[in-house]
Amino acid sequence: MRPEDFAPQDQKHLLPQAGGELVYRCLGCQAALGIERLLYTCPHCGQVLLIEDQAFDRLREIPGPGWRRIFDLRRMLNLPALKGIFRYAELLAPVIPLDSVLYLGEGHTPLVEASARLKAAAGAEFCFKNDGQNPSASFKDRGMAVALSYINYLVKHRGAGQVLSICASTGDTSASAALYASYLAPAVKSAVLLPRGKVTPQQLSQPLGSGAMVFEIPGVFDDCMKVVEYMAERYQVALLNSKNAWRILGQESYSYEIAQDLDYDLTGRVVLVPIGNAGNISAVMSGFMKLKELGIISELPKVIGVQSEHADPVFRFYQEKDPGQRVWRPVTVQASVAQAAMIGNPVSMPRVVELARRYEEMAGSERVSVVQVREQEIMDHMILANRHGHVVCTQGGESLAGLVRARELGIVGPGEQAICDATAHHLKFVGFQQMYFEDSFPPEFGVKPRPELRNQPQEVAALGEDELPAPGRPLSGQAFDKFVQATAQEIARRLGLEER
Ligand SMILES: *Cc1c(COP(=O)(O)O)cnc(C)c1O
Ligand SMILES: [Zn+2]
Repeated sequence: MRPEDFAPQDQKHLLPQAGGELVYRCLGCQAALGIERLLYTCPHCGQVLLIEDQAFDRLREIPGPGWRRIFDLRRMLNLPALKGIFRYAELLAPVIPLDSVLYLGEGHTPLVEASARLKAAAGAEFCFKNDGQNPSASFKDRGMAVALSYINYLVKHRGAGQVLSICASTGDTSASAALYASYLAPAVKSAVLLPRGKVTPQQLSQPLGSGAMVFEIPGVFDDCMKVVEYMAERYQVALLNSKNAWRILGQESYSYEIAQDLDYDLTGRVVLVPIGNAGNISAVMSGFMKLKELGIISELPKVIGVQSEHADPVFRFYQEKDPGQRVWRPVTVQASVAQAAMIGNPVSMPRVVELARRYEEMAGSERVSVVQVREQEIMDHMILANRHGHVVCTQGGESLAGLVRARELGIVGPGEQAICDATAHHLKFVGFQQMYFEDSFPPEFGVKPRPELRNQPQEVAALGEDELPAPGRPLSGQAFDKFVQATAQEIARRLGLEER
């Protein structure tokens, strides 16, 4: 529909008005810092930042049901800028005018309900939210849509000149950053730093395909991150890692979509998110809290972070139940199939601590938890899910394994319904599936395939070599008929088919 096709009383708030008073808020010294410059850490104390709308209270003039109606009506609009996550503009980054919004197809990812059999196997009611169906095939596109829209705004309206965007990545951040930056070429150029051999071939191909400059660095992600941070402090670059608080805003849309798709009723719901740099779980909590503050939802869902035993600093931190006794210790990561979450020193840890505290203040205690899963469980659950109609990556398998663990621990009760974050598309991480099917995992992963979950192609050569077709040597006539018949019969035999 076009805006003028809506009833007059609905037209007033249909299009978001540019506005709000956004500031960077330091999580260390609480300083409020202007957004005219791109900042990643506090110039006073070095802590990470969150973006806060100091005029958020103006949004309370519209009651919760009013917002629900606005968001639902916007779904019917055919304006590209409001097709994606900016249909929640007032909750994200209302300072960005619609003419600067970048929309590459992100958002609107589906909740896909698990089949009865898969639910029974998992011991819980659940669905996946398929964030692998975003344009670069991971949830990172939500954050990049806001970060690059803001850069676009600075270029278009604030004379920012040419921008060089830069990020370190476990694979998906760089794929997404390079994609969104390439849309703004030549005003924006992009460079990405990857840990050599620690991203999948698909993830490496993505920034290359988008024309980014790709630098491979020895070590693991945490090492890359340090190099990028050093550069961001000394050179004129736009940092697109999750230190960039604009990305957190964009990723909040994940929560808004869940709420909207469940008709804003989150009673008895549990949201499971794999944790790497901890930006996503920060955004998920922040998003739900904004909805609650505006009366758009009446109940906050439980939030459960999931980490692999091979990269579990956040899990370890929350093992201590007394907040006063918790001690933050980064860990040295080991090889993990949840490679996109293989981070020992998450940048957003201070955000998690602060937002989880606020979340529990608002929702009650024990509404945020972190569980740990084994590498074996991650693989088994990814493959089990995909054998039942899903397209989840290893991190999606981690979400599901986390749900099973949370059920065992009683963190999720039998009547609760979970939403597992399928953070990227299965095809980005097929190498791990391949190792599982071939039983070729290097020992450091500690993964052995379960025989019933393995799958391999079977060769069918029902006749002698010279009776089979080959590239450039097609068969014809009787020879062809013989080949078709023999091959079909051999396949039917293996499938145990009876002739009609
Ligand atoms: C980035 C990423 C994660 C981890 O998210 P954080 O925000 O770093 O905690 C999980 N899964 C996939 C597929 C990712 O790309
Ligand atoms: Zn500070």
